[in-house]
Amino acid sequence: MGKESEEELTKNAILGKELFSEADLKKRVAELGREITKDYKHKNLLAVCILKGGVIFLVDLIKEIDLPLSIDFMSISTYGIGNTSTGVVRITKDLDESIEGRDVLIVEDIIDTGLTISYLLRNLRSRFPKSIEICTLLDRDVRRIVDIKIKYAGYRIGEQYIVGYGLDYKQQFRNLNLYMN
Ligand code: 5GP
Repeated sequence: MGKESEEELTKNAILGKELFSEADLKKRVAELGREITKDYKHKNLLAVCILKGGVIFLVDLIKEIDLPLSIDFMSISTYGIGNTSTGVVRITKDLDESIEGRDVLIVEDIIDTGLTISYLLRNLRSRFPKSIEICTLLDRDVRRIVDIKIKYAGYRIGEQYIVGYGLDYKQQFRNLNLYMN
């Protein structure tokens, strides 16, 4: 078997099958954008993207929000055992702006156990935002350990590992549509 086809097989085994098409994703993201537009009128919206997984979602989402807004980025590294996070989080890039008095919307790729987001919520709440809510593309509530109030969720998903649309496998495949395995 040639090297190329072996690579192709490995890639297909990692990706599994397409979860949502580009058109489905676009439609769902537009719906979320409309909801956020309705809820954040007359507010001081700051969308906080958690790098790197949230980046494609953030870019598409803000184009669907018809309001003045700012964006900021935070990068974290999580320490996991296998593919389960431990909630031990280190901020590797902090926000550029103060969030005091702002209406913060955290934009995440996926909330799984909820440990990472609960750390982030604690950290960001200590900076006195006026309000803080979560918008996640994917909500895997079957594995939730910490009770988290998620205001906006694109899709509820099951146990399958997801790659694409910002989510990676070993830092690859973020540029594809969503796949599940
Ligand atoms: P939690 O702390 O909620 O268990 O984990 C959240 C983080 O784990 C996500 O932000 C993401 O980086 C990673 N993660 C959880 N499930 C998946 C998945 O199915 N695919 C990918 N690529 N990352 C995941």
